[in-house]
Amino acid sequence: MIDEPFFPTTDILKSRDQAQHAFHERAARVAVETFGRQVFVRAVVEVSNFCRENCSYCGMRRDNRGLARHRARLDQLAELLVHHRPASVTDVNLQAGEDPVVVREVVLPLIKILRHETPVGLSVCLGTLNRSLYGALKSAGASTYIIKFEVADPELYAQMEAPGTFEERVEHIRLLAATGWNVSSGFIAGLPGETEDALLANFSLARKLPLAGCSVSPFIPGEATPYANAPTADIDLTLNCMAALRLMRPRWVIPAVSALNLARPGSGYRRGLRTGANLVTINLTPPGLREDYVLYRRDRFIMTEERILAAIEAEGLKASKQSLADYYRQKNALTTSAPRSRLERVAV
Ligand code: SAM
Repeated sequence: MIDEPFFPTTDILKSRDQAQHAFHERAARVAVETFGRQVFVRAVVEVSNFCRENCSYCGMRRDNRGLARHRARLDQLAELLVHHRPASVTDVNLQAGEDPVVVREVVLPLIKILRHETPVGLSVCLGTLNRSLYGALKSAGASTYIIKFEVADPELYAQMEAPGTFEERVEHIRLLAATGWNVSSGFIAGLPGETEDALLANFSLARKLPLAGCSVSPFIPGEATPYANAPTADIDLTLNCMAALRLMRPRWVIPAVSALNLARPGSGYRRGLRTGANLVTINLTPPGLREDYVLYRRDRFIMTEERILAAIEAEGLKASKQSLADYYRQKNALTTSAPRSRLERVAV
């Protein structure tokens, strides 16, 4: 008999205490069975806080006129990433507000430099761009595109003024996957106005998309945004969503996002690693830009290499020596050469 693929219920997403503990343990066990005790270590470098979008939840929204806007310098980033990146980092993610100028002037030349001078895997998180920029980024040497669908309920998506339209965002996720990118998407849990059905819709959409990974970020009220006074997402709800993603798609790469520590200072991040997350992020944004890269508030919780390595060690995990890009390359080679099992065909 073949087990039905996991899909969460509202009850399981609301679970607490013993039931929640057992649920997280089950998800963590699946992650260990699939990936061993290894977690990928990726550095994130934020390269611009200019943004042409106006997401109501985000502190970098276009209408936030009080925010000083900056773009990072190519030479400074190249020096940092070629010569001074922490030893545990195997992949680098270049992230920005939606700013095609920084893509052309900084990100593209930086990717070319990193491709020639380092072995790091390259991810980008640069918003909804056009086919030609996606193509240029890929030819330069990036292989993973992080593009969250943010929220799967089209009405809530429009209300939140999330990038472009919901249909367009989903179309771009599919386009990126169809053109050879490893696509990682994700959603924000606990947005103001989120209903139980809207939360479940995130899982229905995620399982239909051609993804290599998926994240859950807790909603954190952003400074100088229309939702500045809304409540922070419930950490337990966020962690339950992470565990549910792991059980729904055992092979996805699922990050423990640093905002878990804002949702529950002190323990949020470590608890994230106990739900089956297998990717951690070290923030390497140069000071200067970092202060004004305000997704939520200025008092950000910065994940340094020291904090990350301490957290993974405390959870009995290990930093992977293999890069995420390499892992995807191997996995893609296997899936294109081997016939898929019936279970996998059902799960797509
Ligand atoms: N501009 C790019 C895009 O649209 O994909 C990428 C960068 S965007 C600034 C990074 C992510 O931050 C968004 O995809 C969103 O999920 C997250 N984010 C922004 N504000 C947030 C908030 N208040 N709470 C939780 N996540 C937030």
